[in-house]
Amino acid sequence: LTERLSGVFDKLTGRGALSEKDVDAALREIRVALLEADVALPVVKDFVKTVKERAVGEDVIRAVAPGQQVIKIVHDALVGLLGGEGEPEGLSLTGEPPIVILMAGLQGSGKTTTSAKLARRIQTRDKKKVLLASLDTRRPAAMEQLQQMAEQAEAGFLPIVQGQGAVDIAKRAVQAGRLQGYDVVILDTAGRTSIDEDLMAEAKAISDVSNPRETLLVADALTGQDAVETARRFNERLPLTGLVLTRMDGDGRGGAALSMRHVTGLPIKFVGVSEKVDGLDAFDAKRMAGRILGRGDIVALVEKAAEEVDQEKAERLARKMAKGKFDMDDLADQLNQLKKMGGLGGIMGLLPGMNKKMQAQAAAAGMDDNLLKQQTAIISSMTKEERRKPELIKASRRKRIAAGAGVGVPEVNKLLKMHRQMADMMKKVGKKGPKGLLSGFTP
Ligand code: GDP
Ligand code: MG
Repeated sequence: LTERLSGVFDKLTGRGALSEKDVDAALREIRVALLEADVALPVVKDFVKTVKERAVGEDVIRAVAPGQQVIKIVHDALVGLLGGEGEPEGLSLTGEPPIVILMAGLQGSGKTTTSAKLARRIQTRDKKKVLLASLDTRRPAAMEQLQQMAEQAEAGFLPIVQGQGAVDIAKRAVQAGRLQGYDVVILDTAGRTSIDEDLMAEAKAISDVSNPRETLLVADALTGQDAVETARRFNERLPLTGLVLTRMDGDGRGGAALSMRHVTGLPIKFVGVSEKVDGLDAFDAKRMAGRILGRGDIVALVEKAAEEVDQEKAERLARKMAKGKFDMDDLADQLNQLKKMGGLGGIMGLLPGMNKKMQAQAAAAGMDDNLLKQQTAIISSMTKEERRKPELIKASRRKRIAAGAGVGVPEVNKLLKMHRQMADMMKKVGKKGPKGLLSGFTP
């Protein structure tokens, strides 16, 4: 068991402060992770540089490896850059109706779908009446597409008038919105497969006549490296107020979110998570950061360790270890520490690369949470003296302890054996100093 324990925990061995070498090594991994997540290269460079300055010299949390801690620092920086924790910025819908929302973006980015999703959201959450208008005069059947989705969203739809230009439709939509008592008018525009001057000029003209409160740039989460250029060009020409990232239900890691935010400084307000009319979520910076890094839940592990590790206890144990002492109370502390961190099952679930099969093997080896409980119970049935001096525990005492803990004598024997092995190991490590092998196991 001890062997397995140290196997699980050898990655978690702590040290003093983050060195430049630790940080560089971890940042190399981060750089790859960000590029794989399709964050644009210049953005990656900027970001990594900032994080490096922040990370070097930071105190190491003893329960985790330096690399993991850097990942946590990166994660926090990423969350901050993406807009921080807490409620994302919503839409501004107050004031003289109708409030106009203009949807911009490349063709196929999800403008039409997002328009309908927004209409539904505003109607159900904000209890406001929404009129949808299609300004897409270019793509065949684009208007009918919005009409259908408007029905699904149970929102109003501006009747189609053939032959009218986009700017005229925008004027008509705002007017209809006013006359028919709509609170919000959403203008769905046409897009091109790539940015061109025509598209930009049209969008600008629509914006000028409709005076939108919100101008949202809709982008596909799979856009990748092009995201920077798209965001920059739209941001130059239109008074953008926010970003919407669609297809977050796909395989994309969402690096475009970081790139676009970095370039425009605009809040990411929503993410699209399905083709359906209810598939729109408020943006969650923390979730997005986790996804971009793609590091399992290492971040959660580091957070837990930082929260739960009792530094004082750790130092007390380190001193004891240096003297070659490790009694049952210490073992009980260790087990408690494990329990607090969600038990071994919890910890293993958090480690990347730890699959179901490995967890089952660990459980078979007796490393499950029930065992932790049982072992703690056995230690609790010992007297104070016995806990200090486990060598006192002979046959009759073993029987008594077993009965007290509701287990058999073999379980007590196993625990005693485990304690002996660990004490031996502690002694060896203790000689090398407290920051050796198992200082991660019990920081
Ligand atoms: P537009 O050209 O910008 O108006 O894009 P559309 O709204 O027509 O969307 C293009 C395609 O992407 C359609 O097939 C949509 O169903 C799909 N789509 C849009 N948003 C999402 C999303 O969040 N998730 C998924 N899976 N598909 C989406
Ligand atoms: Mg469309």
